[in-house]
Amino acid sequence: MQLIHMKEKLSIGGQLIEYTVQRSLRSRSISISVTEEGKLRLSYPWRVSDAAAHSFVQKKAEWILKKVSEARSLDLTHISLTRSTGARLKKETKTLVILRLQYFNQFYGYTYNKITIRNQKSRWGSCSKKGNLNFNYKLAALPAELSDYIVVHELCHLGQFDHSKKFWELVARTIPDWKKKREELRKIRIKIV
Ligand SMILES: [Zn+2]
Repeated sequence: MQLIHMKEKLSIGGQLIEYTVQRSLRSRSISISVTEEGKLRLSYPWRVSDAAAHSFVQKKAEWILKKVSEARSLDLTHISLTRSTGARLKKETKTLVILRLQYFNQFYGYTYNKITIRNQKSRWGSCSKKGNLNFNYKLAALPAELSDYIVVHELCHLGQFDHSKKFWELVARTIPDWKKKREELRKIRIKIV
């Protein structure tokens, strides 16, 4: 079996996307895949011409853009690199948390104490028995629906200080699909430095 690796560039909707090409004796059809890091790979059999393979890519352009941007938006390491500094991200997170807490607390009416944004190693948020809420400074780099879930999660601990059925019922009042959000959050490979 022989393989050829080439880097090629593709322009879709004004975005230049790099992809790896593999031509293989063994593969039977043209296939495109997007890795978790948002990298694109095209593989096709020897008997298929380059032109045919590339027109296949063009036909799949919309799907490719969607997959690549999904993967990139979920790659926190990538997002934090494009931000100028951690300090800026921390400020954005503080503003976001204050606004979203105010918004969601309309539905709960709890009293919270201090809000702290910190560089937590492995948690997105926590709630203390004194009613202090802590959030990870990278929160603002997450997709909004996920940061909202985290805000609501900690807020609801003011009403229920455990992860009982009662607690999840509180969360579900404003985030009915909290299970899905929790799953999505687990899938994010984060490297908090
Ligand atoms: Zn919790």
